Amino acid sequence: NKTSSSNFIKNIVADDLKAGKVSEVVTRFPPEPNGYLHIGHAKSICLNFELADEYGGKTNLRFDDTNPVKEDTEYVESIQEDVTWLGFEWDELRFASDYFEEMYNRAVLLIKKGKAFVCDLTAEKVREMRGSLTEPGKNSPYRDRSVEENLDLFARMRAGEFKDGERILRAKIDMASPNINLRDPALYRIAHAHHHRTGDAWCIYPMYDYAHPISDAIEGVTHSVCTLEFEDHRPLYDWVIEECEMSSRPRQYEFARLNVTNTIMSKRYLKMLVDQGVVESWDDPRMPTISGLRRKGFTPEALRAFCREIGVARAYSVVDERMLEFFIREDLKLKAPRTMAVLAPLKVVITNYPEGQVEMLEAENNAENEEMGSRQIPFSREIYIEQDDFMENPPSKYFRLFPGNEVRLKHAYFITCQEVIKDEAGNVVELRCTYDPETKSGTGFTGRKVKGTIHWVEASQAVPAEFRLFEPLLLDNPEDEGKEFLERINPNSLEVLQGFVEPNMKEARGQDKFQFFRHGYFNVDPKHASDSKVVFNRIVSLKSSFDP
Ligand code: ATP
Ligand code: MG
Ligand code: MG
Repeated sequence: NKTSSSNFIKNIVADDLKAGKVSEVVTRFPPEPNGYLHIGHAKSICLNFELADEYGGKTNLRFDDTNPVKEDTEYVESIQEDVTWLGFEWDELRFASDYFEEMYNRAVLLIKKGKAFVCDLTAEKVREMRGSLTEPGKNSPYRDRSVEENLDLFARMRAGEFKDGERILRAKIDMASPNINLRDPALYRIAHAHHHRTGDAWCIYPMYDYAHPISDAIEGVTHSVCTLEFEDHRPLYDWVIEECEMSSRPRQYEFARLNVTNTIMSKRYLKMLVDQGVVESWDDPRMPTISGLRRKGFTPEALRAFCREIGVARAYSVVDERMLEFFIREDLKLKAPRTMAVLAPLKVVITNYPEGQVEMLEAENNAENEEMGSRQIPFSREIYIEQDDFMENPPSKYFRLFPGNEVRLKHAYFITCQEVIKDEAGNVVELRCTYDPETKSGTGFTGRKVKGTIHWVEASQAVPAEFRLFEPLLLDNPEDEGKEFLERINPNSLEVLQGFVEPNMKEARGQDKFQFFRHGYFNVDPKHASDSKVVFNRIVSLKSSFDP
């Protein structure tokens, strides 16, 4: 199941092993603990872990926790849970903050070599003097400070003598470089902030471009895989490894990030949805987070198969959201038991069925997988059907129930609609039907045919259930392009229905998955499910309009 297709990074690893450039492949997955992981991260997780798995190497889970203001242990925990749930085991659990002392010492080394300096310019001034793609930058007036002065100032930065933003430590590279990342980039900033692991031990924090290569090198990472926006940072990555005199030499490789149609793929926006109460939580089933997809009912197998299918490339692309749905249908097709659920109930009384009688009917659990066997379901004089399966004045081609029409009840009998009962407002509240005992399912009745088959649940033993149906969180409206993010939110992304399921569903527990006949695949919501009510999230409908 773990076999995965080839990709350009795997080819590089294979070549490096063959040429003896590395003796073992070591990768890492380096999330910043500033939010929950999303489906885009799943791509990076699969890539990093499978790369190492395939060649007998190692993968670390490393928290890139260098930005204390945004980070939190809640995120650290959720990320570990998600990676494990996806089916991967890290070799070592590391934190960039474990290396703060070593990073500091390496920065001192840079200063001693004349490769770094303390700069007193404001952030705004630094930006102003950086130049542009067409214009070189200007040297900072602090660039030529003596080593002694720099060492003293950097030590005092660490000691907490200065306020946030008053000084930074910068690399001394080249303000005229065509690569803006090399124009004396910041290595350390001052932030008097509590860190989720180091507490108040530090008030200076390393920048990503400095911390990342050093962390990789300390861990002996051989292939440091990241997304394409870091391509222009690679020369700086190499500069840090070189000038900090790291004993191991990781290499950075870039691939295109995953984008999915109609799907928000940025922690910043996902956090906004949580903070503004647009969704319940990070693991709301509408969220493209790994925990949201899990709660919706996605399986790790489906997500891994999806990641395998989309592949790894350097070209920008957007994957159709229906591809995710294809893979969950594929995975559940043979696994999920079939059962009947009525999402919007309409009572039907079968007038010629003996009062007080309940018979048990046999129903197969999965027509596509005989091994799943069958179950017994009750049938009696009163049942629920779907409101949508009745129309008083149907258009032509409507083959479900209408006055005088006969349909098949799945696993049971043919019934004919004889009478429509309405309330004072004229709403249909009940149907009176007759059944034909000869048409019992499984008896091989061929006397006549009906065009419609509908599902139902026996009324006296039906289990009340809540159904949650989802639509995309974003309105897929091109006219909305220029609009504020929060104005593009689909106000109808959640629909909640109260209906019934078969009696044996009383046993359903959090994360159990079913296919409701004609409705699609559903997952028992692990958060809302209780002894008094079963709550189902729709994972995906049955219709598929897409094949990869
Ligand atoms: P976001 O923009 O959502 O905050 P990020 O890249 O800042 O994402 P990190 O926690 O830094 O989030 O990401 C950890 C790893 O996951 C990085 O190596 C990053 O490149 C990768 N990653 C993040 N988003 C995607 C994506 N959409 N597709 C593939 N890889 C991704
Ligand atoms: Mg990041
Ligand atoms: Mg980010």
